[in-house]
Amino acid sequence: MKKIKILLLIALISVNYIYAQDDFETKLLAKFHSITSEEMMTWMEKLCSPEYNGRLSGTPEYIASAEWVAEKLKKWGILPGGDNGTYFQWFDSPYTAVNDIGSLALRISQPDSSSIIKNYTYPDEYYPGMNSGNGEITAEVVFVGFGVTAPELDYDDYKGIDVKGKIVLVNRDVPHSNPRDPEYKKWVSYCYHQYKLENAVKHGAAGFLYIDGIGANPNISYDPSIMVCGIGPQPLADIFSGLNTTNTEVTDKIKKTFKPASFSTGKIMTIKANTTRHPEGRGCNVVGYIEGADPVLKNEAIIIGGHLDAVGTAGKTVNGALDNASGAVDIMGAAKAMAQSGIKLKRSVVFLFIGGEETGLHGSRLYARKPLFPKENTITFINLDMVGNGTGLAVNASAPYKQLLTYFEEANTKYIHRPFRGSAPEPLDFYGRPRSDTYNFSSTGYRTMSIFTTSGYKKVYYHLPGDDPDAVTIDIMEDVAKMIYVALTNMANDTELKF
Ligand SMILES: [Zn+2]
Repeated sequence: MKKIKILLLIALISVNYIYAQDDFETKLLAKFHSITSEEMMTWMEKLCSPEYNGRLSGTPEYIASAEWVAEKLKKWGILPGGDNGTYFQWFDSPYTAVNDIGSLALRISQPDSSSIIKNYTYPDEYYPGMNSGNGEITAEVVFVGFGVTAPELDYDDYKGIDVKGKIVLVNRDVPHSNPRDPEYKKWVSYCYHQYKLENAVKHGAAGFLYIDGIGANPNISYDPSIMVCGIGPQPLADIFSGLNTTNTEVTDKIKKTFKPASFSTGKIMTIKANTTRHPEGRGCNVVGYIEGADPVLKNEAIIIGGHLDAVGTAGKTVNGALDNASGAVDIMGAAKAMAQSGIKLKRSVVFLFIGGEETGLHGSRLYARKPLFPKENTITFINLDMVGNGTGLAVNASAPYKQLLTYFEEANTKYIHRPFRGSAPEPLDFYGRPRSDTYNFSSTGYRTMSIFTTSGYKKVYYHLPGDDPDAVTIDIMEDVAKMIYVALTNMANDTELKF
């Protein structure tokens, strides 16, 4: 009799379990199918519309886009996780409005001592500097290698050369060319655009030409005294014409010898920039969360994040569809479904729309320092940056937390069936750091992950006009949102998951 009772009890528990599982699966799939590329495309188009003007951090248009995202979160029943019970986490974000495309011209002397002016074309030959001073400079161009002054490395591109009132011509990167070499670490702080511009200002330069600088880049210092412009191959070739050498030849030699090779080029150029500085600019993160339902596990959080800001307008607006409305819209798709699935999540899930990424990773730095849930209780920060182009899925996790990949892999295997690549550790950028906003989380001790898409890419307009909704692949975005939805639901509910 006792045995039968036990058997009955086991049967009852099993049936309940199966029902519970069925119920879970039914709810999960109902909202899984509610994530559609049609709806996601309407959000994409909204974020890329003229009213947000390229969502440059600091601008009123960026703030308007953040308010629009917050309104959606509120509508879906996602709780505010920002300052003072709002969805917003604010920070100072001074910015420079670039009012038109400006111009770049070369004065070519003729044998009869007259001269002709060669004007360059936007955006292939030159690109206006996004933090340029306002005005015009005509001066001689001085080549200063990598624009680095590093006394402790016995290296100075400005040594013995006068650049006061001149235009400096500067390469990206540093003389050391292997980021994987431990020696490279000594050079890292000289890689940054900010440093290079500040060093040019310190030496009295009045103009700054950045080689391979085609594309909007607001992540650079501002000084009203210097006109800044990015240049492509044609003006570079013109500057070196008649000098019996090329930029590649000179920089290769510097890289081999670690000896600077700066010189006056004898070429006269004019940079015109029409900019307005806005020191009063403010930026923000949008923070929303679903509170966990388990009395203990609710104190643990999973963060899914991506930057909402883009590079604004440098004469012409860069709408930032792929970079990174795609990431923001992927998160929105998953957030809406999670908020409405009816599945009670045990852990809390934070949806983080990051501001100020393009101007220097400001929003992620702020959140990592002032998190909604303590770092110790945060399972992981998952970043999405440019996740809307391609046909395959890729998820990375910083070792040794590779097991976090399994939630994504399972979601794909069970419901999505795309080519999937899971790998650890995370890919690094040229500075040897985790890419984009993951840097601020991993460097302060969070476990970080990132989601990418792979293969079958459409043309990428990186920081260029043309990064519009038709440059993204909306059906891979739908699948990314679905993968996040399933993986995060399971991760939030997994009682076995412990660190
Ligand atoms: Zn980005």
